[in-house]
Amino acid sequence: MSNANGPGTTTTSTVSRRKWGGMVFFKVEEIIFEVPRYRFSESSEVFETMFDLPPGSEGNVEGRDEGHPIVLEGYEAAHFDALLKVLYPTPDDLISGTFKLEKEEWIGVLNLSTRWSMKRIRKHAIDELSKIPLDLVEKVALAREHKVAKWFRDGVNDLVSEHPIRPLAELKSRLGIEMACALLWIQAQRPQERTEKDFAIALCSLGCPSCFKSVFHAPLTSWCCNRSISVADYSTIRLLNGTSGTFTYSANRFQISLKLTSLRCSSCLDSCPIDYRPDYHCSSCNSIVAPSNFRLINPLHRNRAIAPELNVSEMLKEEIASYESWDD
Ligand SMILES: [Zn+2]
Ligand SMILES: [Zn+2]
Repeated sequence: MSNANGPGTTTTSTVSRRKWGGMVFFKVEEIIFEVPRYRFSESSEVFETMFDLPPGSEGNVEGRDEGHPIVLEGYEAAHFDALLKVLYPTPDDLISGTFKLEKEEWIGVLNLSTRWSMKRIRKHAIDELSKIPLDLVEKVALAREHKVAKWFRDGVNDLVSEHPIRPLAELKSRLGIEMACALLWIQAQRPQERTEKDFAIALCSLGCPSCFKSVFHAPLTSWCCNRSISVADYSTIRLLNGTSGTFTYSANRFQISLKLTSLRCSSCLDSCPIDYRPDYHCSSCNSIVAPSNFRLINPLHRNRAIAPELNVSEMLKEEIASYESWDD
């Protein structure tokens, strides 16, 4: 831009004009926006180039006034409005420190900043939207529309790990038939679901060493936190990490001895939920059960699914790579 000071022009006004670059008129849908052009050209080479174009043949510069706006075809006014909030935050935004856009507004900002190569704004919109919980299908759809490699990779990985997978109609309508096929194909390649055995205990797992029947037949109040522990609730008692027991074969069966001091409350974590000082009484065989001499009975075996190892990144590497180039 020229630095010439014409007659009667003060230095101050020249600098000011240069900073804001004058106003420009855009038409998006049916709305005319009058905005300072400075931050458009500063944030985007697309606008920098557009504003540098020589005037048209009739001497009109597009965007100069309401009658000659720059028409942005194929854009949404709501998106444009959201982008203006980011380009030109108000003093109120600054003072309150709570600059906040709605999710749809951030999506609009992401849309325009992607199309106009406003890299820093695009990155910020992605960061803001990453803080909002997105449905997986929406995440993948947004990722593809706006070329966000991370969302695409994470979203696809999570989608194919869902069980059961989403209905075909939902995948097809929101991601297109090709992507729906790819997802179903990836899911079909999953290795056989692997499981790991795990077991849990409850009050009814504390057995008598003489008759191997359960010693507790009624709910107890936990010693540590006064919670009611029902006999077959497998979620309130757990074994202390590192618990070891004696494992013996006698009375024609394998026996695992269990001390009450090895039990932990699942709420209090470090406390034993059952009083481990007194002896207990087995009502089935009438014997005395010392607190360190229970037998493990009725453990609950659970199958814990282990997430299959999928190499989605490998299968969709070309699409991911094409989006990653937008992160530079
Ligand atoms: Zn007994
Ligand atoms: Zn407790």
